Amino acid sequence: MVNHHTTEVFFHDMRVPAANLIGEVDEGFKYILDGMNAERILIASESFGDGRWFIDKASRYATERQVFGRPIGQNQGVQFPIARAYVQLRGAELMLRRACALFDEGKQCGPEANMAKLLNSEAAWVAGEACLQTHGGFGYAVEYDVERKWRETRLYQIAPISTNLILAYVGEHVLGMPRSY
Ligand SMILES: Cc1cc2nc3c(=O)[nH]c(=O)nc-3n(C[C@H](O)[C@H](O)[C@H](O)COP(=O)(O)OP(=O)(O)OC[C@H]3O[C@@H](n4cnc5c(N)ncnc54)[C@H](O)[C@@H]3O)c2cc1C
Repeated sequence: MVNHHTTEVFFHDMRVPAANLIGEVDEGFKYILDGMNAERILIASESFGDGRWFIDKASRYATERQVFGRPIGQNQGVQFPIARAYVQLRGAELMLRRACALFDEGKQCGPEANMAKLLNSEAAWVAGEACLQTHGGFGYAVEYDVERKWRETRLYQIAPISTNLILAYVGEHVLGMPRSY
């Protein structure tokens, strides 16, 4: 992966000039959360794009690749996982577009941004799995780019927020259940 080294940053007794204050004192966490919603929508969009790439690549390869005298995509065992991934991705897209619309209108979009990120990251992964499997051994040939993208798209079930913590957010803040951590 390019530009994905993981590092930690520590701040000790750091002083920030008053002129650098953004917004109002003690309201910072709310501003951060607003930025995080934008990041979740961004990552959901990236995952959606990954999913489209996987499905396009898989369906083209399934149509072109001939084994035993017929395209592998003629077999339902190859075709259906790609079709299912497409259905899942299009469903996830609806939540993404809802989150984008709310954000653009300046409205609260925490639940939708989180759900869009969860749904699209999982849909992209399902599409990545279908794409890698469709390519068989060539899925691991670097010139096809499939294994690289498959590896990269898995990240979005962990960062910038893991799926479990999205579920904790939905359980607590959307469904009103007790805080679990
Ligand atoms: C490639 C990469 C790039 C990144 N880029 C950035 C960046 O640019 N900026 C930035 O700030 N961060 C970045 N991160 C960090 C990323 O946001 C964190 O890795 C992510 O939020 C998960 O936190 P953690 O690694 O501390 O996992 P942990 O909090 O240690 O969690 C580990 C696992 O346990 C689960 N878990 C933990 N607590 C609970 C609980 N209470 N209930 C249920 N499950 C739980 C989590 O879901 C996860 O699966 C990046 C990470 C990676 C891998």
